[in-house]
Parts: sequence; structure tokens; C-alpha cells
Amino acid sequence: MKILFFGPNGSGKGTQGAIVKDKFGIPHIETGVIFRENISKGTSLGNEAKGYIDRGELVPDSITIPMILDRLKQDDCKRGWLLDGFPRNLTQASELAKALKEEGIDIDIVIEIVLDRKTAKERIMGRRLCVNDNNHPNNIYIDAIKPDGDKCRVCGGDLKTRSDDQDAEAIDQRHSIYYDEKSGTMAGVIFFKDMSAKNGGIPRIIDLDGRPGVKDVSAELMSKLG
Ligand code: AMP
Repeated sequence: MKILFFGPNGSGKGTQGAIVKDKFGIPHIETGVIFRENISKGTSLGNEAKGYIDRGELVPDSITIPMILDRLKQDDCKRGWLLDGFPRNLTQASELAKALKEEGIDIDIVIEIVLDRKTAKERIMGRRLCVNDNNHPNNIYIDAIKPDGDKCRVCGGDLKTRSDDQDAEAIDQRHSIYYDEKSGTMAGVIFFKDMSAKNGGIPRIIDLDGRPGVKDVSAELMSKLG
């Protein structure tokens, strides 16, 4: 199963992505996580990416596209993958489609969480990351995933914030890229919707309303996945 997962920062994409990953037993490949791991390990990729990430800008395509296409060639991706945070612009979308076509691979499903910009921003500022597991969702503004005091609600681990989550300017920058229908992430969403329309419904498109609570969005997702 090959799945693309779209949604603005703050839409709960990471949380829902973890559910999809478990349902299909496929690796959850998150571009942002790969970059942050490289930053904390001090690799040259991390050093190169850090400035862009802190400003809320995209890391250049010349770095990001080969990084992801290489990742998809690894052994654990043979049975499928869930891509989250890539593609993030029209160039990445068309380069991914081109690379997959060359390999004779179809994308099965494209999921989009639809959420307005104002709500997404509030949710980002409340997000907390578990130091033990990136797939343990915590958010001080969302009742269903409120931390247990200042600890992770799943495992009791310490929580931290992402520096780019507390910077309103960087959030606005990220959202301007996401909601841009001409060349940004939404242009990528439209690209795959067009592909589906021209290709007899492949990939299958699943739209989710991101406004309800986490559990309701998950329930809608599960019923639409079948
Ligand atoms: P995220 O964890 O998805 O919010 O990503 C954090 C940051 O990593 C973004 O604001 C970008 O700076 C960078 N990033 C993540 N995915 C991509 C991508 N597909 N292309 C370029 N930069 C990316």
C-alpha cells in the first residue's frame, strides 16, 4: 500500500498517520522527522537543513527530493509506505510521480486533512513532542490528547516543544507554503487529484474534515479506508 498524506501543519496529520501506518504495517516516512534526526545528530544534512527549518522555509528541492527517493528504495519500503510531509510543492509532486512511473509504481491512496489556517495555527502552538516516541501525540489545547501534567500521556516520558512551533512568523511562513495552490503544497494536492480524475480513480482520494476531535477524525479515516 502506497499512501500520500497531506494536511497543513497542525491538522493532526502526524497523529492520523500513525494510525494508518499501524493499519497497513508500512513505514511512516516523515520528511520533517528525518531532518530533525539529522539536526540532533549534527550530520551535514542536518546542518544544511537547520536554517531553512528554523525560518519555516522549505529545505531546497535539490536536497529533499533525492533524500526521499533514496529512502523509498530501502528494503522496508518494498511492501509500501506512507509519505507524510512530502511532496510539499508542485516540483516535488511531479518529480515523485515521474520517479514512481519509471519504476511502474502506482500511488494507491492520497489522504488530505482539510483544516482552516487559523485553527491549524492554534493547534501547532499547543503541540508537545514525546522524547521517547514521535508517534505519541500530545497537545495542550486538544482535550483528547492533553498531556498528563507535563509528561507524555502515552508513556509518561518527558515532553519538549519544537522551536519552529513556537515562532508565529515561522508558522505563517509554513502555512503560506501549504495553502499556495499555484506552486505550493496545495498545488501538489491538486496535481494528484487531477491524476486520479484522469486515471479512473487511481490514486483513490480521501478527504477528511480536520475540525472535529482526534477520535472523530480517526473514525472517519478508518471508515473511508474500509
Ligand atoms: P514538518 O515536521 O513536516 O512540519 O517539517 C518541518 C520542516 O522541515 C518544514 O518546515 C521544512 O523546513 C522542512 N521540510 C519538511 N518536509 C519538507 C519537504 N518535503 N521539502 C522541503 N522541506 C521540508
